[in-house]
Amino acid sequence: MHDTMKESGRTGPSKGSVPEKMKALQYSGPEKFAVVQIDVPQIGDDDVLVKISACGVCGTDLHYHKGEFLAKWPLIPGHEAAGTVAAIGKNVSNVSVGDRVATDPMQPCLSCFHCTRRKPLLCDSLTAFGGNVPGGFAEYCRYPARLVHPIGDLPDLEAVLVEPAACATHGIERMQIEVGSKVLLFGCGPTGILLAQLVKMNGAAHLTIASKGGPKLDLARKMNIADDYIAISDTSPRVQMDALASANPYGFDIVIEATGAPTVLEVALNYVRKGGKLVVYGVYDESVKIAWSPFKIWENEITILASFCSMGHIPHVMEYIKAGKLKLEGVVNKTFRIEEWEECLDVVRRQEVVKAAIAFD
Ligand SMILES: [Zn+2]
Ligand SMILES: [Zn+2]
Repeated sequence: MHDTMKESGRTGPSKGSVPEKMKALQYSGPEKFAVVQIDVPQIGDDDVLVKISACGVCGTDLHYHKGEFLAKWPLIPGHEAAGTVAAIGKNVSNVSVGDRVATDPMQPCLSCFHCTRRKPLLCDSLTAFGGNVPGGFAEYCRYPARLVHPIGDLPDLEAVLVEPAACATHGIERMQIEVGSKVLLFGCGPTGILLAQLVKMNGAAHLTIASKGGPKLDLARKMNIADDYIAISDTSPRVQMDALASANPYGFDIVIEATGAPTVLEVALNYVRKGGKLVVYGVYDESVKIAWSPFKIWENEITILASFCSMGHIPHVMEYIKAGKLKLEGVVNKTFRIEEWEECLDVVRRQEVVKAAIAFD
């Protein structure tokens, strides 16, 4: 098998420099993971083999850890990968061996009910790299060439933000922000920091970030990405939440819930202006239920919308990056080796970092 692959699949100057085996972080089931030595993936004629430099750790990875979402075993997680093209299939023309790239983890089937109705993001049999096929927490990963995008000299730890920024870009499309809008964003994790910048560039006149205090809110302030910053206390959130309401008696045109906390999503509705929109952006546990008053939604003609993931948005993100308009520096503030995954999970769960990434040599 391996020899055939070398003949047909791997071309270019690096031929022979790709090893047979690689290290990967692999799950055999929920919460069961190990660093394993496995074969480097084979590539087909339309594929690219990427030597991973870094891969962002995302809240979704905590869901995969528990076996939720699209998880399929054995699983190599990691869907925010950046690296260097190590080999290309013979039909590949968009990248060359040696190119630095960011990777899009979402591959729609293009033939299901939703795909054939021009809704590939809602594909019923989505291939998700790092979800139901091997992803970027490994030294090498195979991708179809069209999911691989050149990034020039963008540093690795900024390049891992290209995928979350692509998701945020889709969120912006869903919001259809009207000119002069006032926007309230709950949460300023890495995703919130990306969303905030895109909101300000796409129609919002004024942005308030409300989040618990800590390194994430500190960074948001330092990056100067919003107009107002409200630190919500862990112990007595009512005080700041009431102050936020009285300072904005007509509410906000758009309220974005990007914390993933059901209690925040529940109260977020109270901050939506009549005729406004509530954006469900966070990732919640599948079992969670919340209570909203349908009367309030009806009487105030509130639109509730969601943004699930990206679908082909990386080129758009790269335009913002190339134009120097999306600030990414400092968001990833801690890196781990795959051998340190347990420690990484702890740090991410305790929210001691803004964003963590797995780094490789
Ligand atoms: Zn993610
Ligand atoms: Zn499909």
